[in-house]
Amino acid sequence: MVLTFFMSKKITFDYWKHLYSSRMEGMVSSEIRDLLSLSARPEIISFAGGLPEVRALNYQKLERYIKRSLKTDGDISLQYGDSTGYYPLRTKLIDVMAIEGIEVDEEDLVVTTGGQQALDLLAKTFIDQGDAVITEAPSYTGALNAFKAYEARIIGIPVEEKGIDTRKAEEALKDLAARKIQAKFIYVVSNFSNPSGFTISLDRREKLLGLAKKHNTIIIEDNPYGMLRYGGKALPTIKELDIRGDNRNVIYISTLSKMLAPAFRIGWIAAPHPVLEKLTLGVQSAVLCGSTFSQRIAFEYFSDPAWKENIREFIKIYKKRRDTMLASLEENLSGIAEWSKPEGGFFIWLRVPECLNMKEVLADAVRKKVAFVPGTGFYADGRGTDAARLAFCTETRENIQKGMKILSKIIKDRIKLYKSFS
Ligand code: PMP
Repeated sequence: MVLTFFMSKKITFDYWKHLYSSRMEGMVSSEIRDLLSLSARPEIISFAGGLPEVRALNYQKLERYIKRSLKTDGDISLQYGDSTGYYPLRTKLIDVMAIEGIEVDEEDLVVTTGGQQALDLLAKTFIDQGDAVITEAPSYTGALNAFKAYEARIIGIPVEEKGIDTRKAEEALKDLAARKIQAKFIYVVSNFSNPSGFTISLDRREKLLGLAKKHNTIIIEDNPYGMLRYGGKALPTIKELDIRGDNRNVIYISTLSKMLAPAFRIGWIAAPHPVLEKLTLGVQSAVLCGSTFSQRIAFEYFSDPAWKENIREFIKIYKKRRDTMLASLEENLSGIAEWSKPEGGFFIWLRVPECLNMKEVLADAVRKKVAFVPGTGFYADGRGTDAARLAFCTETRENIQKGMKILSKIIKDRIKLYKSFS
């Protein structure tokens, strides 16, 4: 019997420890969760969650779309739907992908309940206990958790400004091959990665694709932020590069969470047809089908060409917030810390001197009403104590300046304290 705290602050006894599946061991809740749950409080300036600025959406139009979804064909909108997704929405999703240079058709997609379910389905489809999967390090926590849930062995490859270190990825693949181990896939967020903010260079995209082909494995390219670019030049997705060739190695996933709103819970996977068949079985066993209602509304949204204006509006807002956070970092932590300078997306990756543990900094910060995510949440092996993910997408520019001042002071005070002891 174990005493646990979970979600609520109630103290309860866990009588069922002996019944849990072994995979739950890999899914331990981190101690930072309690601290981060505080960040949802209104008085906290939160750089923790990557929450899109949904207030920038046109609510009146949304209301119209919802009404139309009920009025014109409520019998469809409220009904079970196709497990591969609401067909008319899939026609819109391929338009969205075409903007990013990816030419596929409606039959090449399966709609999922958010990008998160896409990750879960892919993990369920490919991973057996102990299987090797390659990820960026740091990598998106939700992906690491999905892979860990199926008991994968995660091999984290360091990332740099140009994205995943392809030389190290090659070494890892060679090492696995020498031991006759097949890597199940390589998971990357190609644009403005979560959490690093880095974008994989064209050269490295090509190199990674070549490696996947050579080692007969798959790349899962996750691209939720590709449309949110605030500077620089868009690069072809790895999927596009693959389509130019034999189109065999890349499974592409994306989501409407950042293009529209997370509450719709719509993501999708573009994959070869045999893989899609397996994924569809996965959808059926998990949820039967995604929400027809939200897919119907999203179809309305993407039928109105104004959706592109909305993206431009999002870009305007986030660009200002990114610039504000970068300027605050420069002003407060120049010469003390290092940080990524993302050309898009939601996140900046902060590296502080090794003497600091950002989990401890978080405890101080939350007391002063500022939150962020310590770096350890993005590694499968406990690394990242000297790093943090700062989300610039959520707070106003005033709050970003205020919060960054507070956070920087805590960091500087802790360094001073460390120096006074050493
Ligand atoms: N992949 C990445 C890289 C993400 O950052 C997120 C959300 N933060 C997701 C997938 C999941 O997104 P959702 O389930 O909201 O579509």
